[in-house]
Amino acid sequence: MTSIRIALQKSGRLSEDSIQLFKECGIKFEAGSSGKLRSVSSNFAAEFLFLRDDDISGYVADGVADLGIVGENVYVESNHQLDVVHRLGFSKCRLSIAIPRGETYGNINNFEGKSIATSYPNLLGKYLAAKDIQANIHVISGSVEIAPSIGLADAVCDIVSSGSTLLSNGLKEVEVIFRSEAVLVGNPTLSDEKRAILAKLLFRINAVQTAQNYKYILLNAPNDKLNEIIGLIPGMKSPTVLPLAAGGWSSVHSVIEENDFWNNIEAIRAAGAQGILIIPIEKMVH
Ligand code: ATP
Ligand code: ZN
Repeated sequence: MTSIRIALQKSGRLSEDSIQLFKECGIKFEAGSSGKLRSVSSNFAAEFLFLRDDDISGYVADGVADLGIVGENVYVESNHQLDVVHRLGFSKCRLSIAIPRGETYGNINNFEGKSIATSYPNLLGKYLAAKDIQANIHVISGSVEIAPSIGLADAVCDIVSSGSTLLSNGLKEVEVIFRSEAVLVGNPTLSDEKRAILAKLLFRINAVQTAQNYKYILLNAPNDKLNEIIGLIPGMKSPTVLPLAAGGWSSVHSVIEENDFWNNIEAIRAAGAQGILIIPIEKMVH
């Protein structure tokens, strides 16, 4: 029986959300935290490998794994040619250039002839080349933020999410060069059998991701305001309306995009709706 091999980060900022995604897709396996490096799903044709994130793109490129979840920053930096099969929306961060906080900054030309410490020489190199800037790129693999204070470089180019690491090292962010999120990458030469399994996986991922943007809404409405209230709940097709035991009232059930709910809640209440319940949806298939 064919199955697909999926490489996940063993422990780090991608691990928890990656494992959660497969759980929500109903795919059962033992997570890698127990020191296990490999785990076979008991109910889906997949096997999981738990690796360092830096190794995932290479394993997928070599065909040791068929798929992998990795930060787009790490994938693009790796220079491997893989298929970005799906964008996953978690582990969002940006790759930015930062300089000592006390220095003034004009524009990217400030970096002409300067030195920049980074673990992302390919991404930074391409960005600077596109802007026609000649700078010295110092490749270091960790603790990039301390480079300016120890005199190793004029600036750094590193991953930022909240900016607190930069702040505590006396740095300020001046250029965002790349925006990243977790991506599902795939070997470009998968067999038809493996593609069929991948299609099933993507169907489930889409159902989970769609559901995350929608809520199930229940409310009680006076019958003479039903049309007005229904107009404020753009449902999937048309809402279910059931009579309440109390005369003159109905129960309205529908599906609403979370943003629409927050935008319309005042109007829904003003129209006389009561007992409004919002319930999460686990899976949603259009
Ligand atoms: P490994 O031990 O597997 O090599 P690592 O230390 O290199 O892990 P992590 O810090 O776990 O990597 O980050 C993994 C990925 O998560 C990064 O490449 C980036 O895409 C994303 N990431 C990094 N920092 C953050 C953050 N603060 N918030 C959200 N996502 C982040
Ligand atoms: Zn890493």
